[in-house]
Parts: sequence; C-alpha cells; structure tokens
Amino acid sequence: MSDSDKDIKNLKLLISEKEIQDKLDEMAPKIEECFPPDEDIYTICVLKGSVIFCSDLVKRFKHNVQMEFIRISSYGNETKSSNNLQAIDLTLPNLNNKNVIIVEDIIDTGLTARFLTDLFKIKHHPKKVLFVSLLNKKCARQIEIEPDFYGFEIGNKFVAGYGLDYKGYFRNLPYIGYFES
Ligand code: 5GP
Repeated sequence: MSDSDKDIKNLKLLISEKEIQDKLDEMAPKIEECFPPDEDIYTICVLKGSVIFCSDLVKRFKHNVQMEFIRISSYGNETKSSNNLQAIDLTLPNLNNKNVIIVEDIIDTGLTARFLTDLFKIKHHPKKVLFVSLLNKKCARQIEIEPDFYGFEIGNKFVAGYGLDYKGYFRNLPYIGYFES
C-alpha cells in the first residue's frame, strides 16, 4: 500500500463535487459582471493549487478569456504555511490596462494574496484587477486582506482535493476533504 493510499483513508469529506460545481455556477456570472461584456479578460491561475478551480471557472465565462499561469509555493510538503513564499515563475505578458482576475485556490495567512495584489499594482498596472479564491480560511489570517469573491469559508483545517495537494497527491479528487488531527 502506498503512502497516498494510507492518507486517503484519513481524508474526510468537507465540500462535495456538487457543492463546488453549484458554487461555480453562482460565482462565475457575478465575477463576469464586474467587467464590460465587450472587453477581454485575463485570468491568472496561481499554480499548482488553482489549476482545477481556474479551469472550471473559465468554462463558465462568456467573455473572451486569455489564460495565464504563475507559480508560487508556500507549503512545501507540510500542512502549515512556511510563511516563506517561493516565487517559482512569475512570467506574464504585458497586462497594462487589461482586465485581470487572479485565481487562487485558498487564502490562508494572506501572505500570497498580499504579495500578488502588490505585484499587480506595482508591476502590471491593469485596468482592473479582481482577486478570486475558492476557499477562505479567515481564521488563519496573519495579514488583513480579503478576496473580491470567494466560494466557501472554511475552518482552520488542512484541506486537499480539487487542485489542493497533500505531499503532491489528491489534486485530482473532484471534492475537497480535510485531515482529522
Ligand atoms: P497563504 O499565503 O494565504 O498562507 O497560503 C496560500 C497558499 O498556501 C495556497 O495557495 C495553498 O497553496 C497553500 N495552502 C493554504 N492552506 C492550505 C490547505 O489547507 N491545504 C493545501 N493543500 N494548501 C494550502
């Protein structure tokens, strides 16, 4: 039995596949309404955790969308934030005067959200930038910051599934689970 087979037995259901998909149906039009219908949108998917959320979200958009990707790491193999952001790849095209949506999987301490929000304001000068996160762990916040839109508020639990990993596994699960401590 592999390590991930053992771990999945301890993963308890937190948010079902249907709850996630229903939430996306509800969120997508509200997010899109923030932008003029005849203007393009650039989504910035924060890898790796946001890959599934971002893919499912953009499928619901009616705007013309360009998908961009950046990669940041803060957890490594641990279940607690290292408070040490590693910007692995921040390569982006010119976003000057563009409509931008930063798509995150989860806001925990708020460090990544603050870093990204500042980066976009200082370096990219978009016309409008929205910060969207599927999950919001408000109770773990170390920096005062809130997303423009989020799907679910969760408690201070380590979660995996639907893009979020534990030791590299579980990103492919269609639901979100948590590990009982
Ligand atoms: P923050 O900078 O807000 O502390 O953390 C943001 C990043 O930490 C997220 O994008 C995500 O990659 C990771 N993270 C935070 N909480 C969790 C969690 O419960 N599970 C997993 N798998 N990753 C998390």
